[in-house]
Amino acid sequence: MGIKISVEKFDSILNELKNEYKIYAPHTFAGLGAFSDTNSIRYAEIDSIKDVEYNKKSDFSFKEIVLPITQTLFYFTEDEWIEPKIVEKKILIFARSCDINAIRCLDEMYLRNGYVDPYYKALRDKVRFCLIECKNSFENCFCVSMEANKTDDYDLFIRLENEDVYIEVRNEEFNLFQGEEAVVEPVFVTENEVKVRVPEELDERIFNSRMWKEYSSRCIGCGRCNFVCPTCTCFTMQDIFYKDNKNAGERRRVWASCMVDGYTDMAGGHSFRQDKGDRMRFRVMHKVYDFKKRFGYHMCTGCGRCDDVCPEYISFSNCINKLNEAVKEVQE
Ligand code: SF4
Ligand code: SF4
Repeated sequence: MGIKISVEKFDSILNELKNEYKIYAPHTFAGLGAFSDTNSIRYAEIDSIKDVEYNKKSDFSFKEIVLPITQTLFYFTEDEWIEPKIVEKKILIFARSCDINAIRCLDEMYLRNGYVDPYYKALRDKVRFCLIECKNSFENCFCVSMEANKTDDYDLFIRLENEDVYIEVRNEEFNLFQGEEAVVEPVFVTENEVKVRVPEELDERIFNSRMWKEYSSRCIGCGRCNFVCPTCTCFTMQDIFYKDNKNAGERRRVWASCMVDGYTDMAGGHSFRQDKGDRMRFRVMHKVYDFKKRFGYHMCTGCGRCDDVCPEYISFSNCINKLNEAVKEVQE
């Protein structure tokens, strides 16, 4: 069971909640897309349910809310350091099923991989999810094949229908939402146009396949695929020294990409995977092989954002499907 309330009432409760929560949802920024006259859909703080972009997939995921693109870890002087203040408010994120599944992967990497990352945990502990539905599968999505099309891991579910909002409350923190009783149950996508099959027999022998060569020339190493991916977790460190006092500064961690030049540079000038095909192999194997070996399920949620954004029209789902032939090739 759930409730039904008007948009007006929903918005007034939403604004009341903002005393305690920062509320984020996918939002369309008109004219701010990568090309002229295109829009950008990304996460932003909202004031009204009408600010939520329901009908299109967001170009970027929720990830930057819990794992900021640039995050100051501490400020330093010659002889002391201090950590920045932690945001006090809780965080409510409107997210689709694939992205709620994606945060499990971030949790594995930052909380359950032998070490608890305190900066991630401080934000993660504050997060609550409001599920939003996908009325249809979007272009390039293959969430059904990756078993990320459904979730019951949410605190609130919201559906906007004309001027009514249907709500399922699963966490008493949101008992502020009161209204006329209604049957409210999320509907999940059960079929995508794009389907993938990860071969069961996948192992390290796939490194020797000829399939990676295609990407050596096609991929330009721009890293866009990593930055839109809700489950990519790599970062690098930067020490910033202030211009007016070179003995003081801050250490930041910033997103990194396994597809760009310099990612594997080491002291002494050594560097791994200079060939872009090797980088593609590394990325694909991480998403549909290594991670599963450790945590029992695939890292890729099939959100299709990397396919949407690649300037070279490289399709991750095609690449996964090609693995089936490649497995036979390396077994011969
Ligand atoms: S489809 Fe691409 S962007 Fe989405 S989770 Fe998989 S690898 Fe990441
Ligand atoms: S977005 Fe495409 S071209 Fe850019 S690094 Fe990824 S696969 Fe290569």
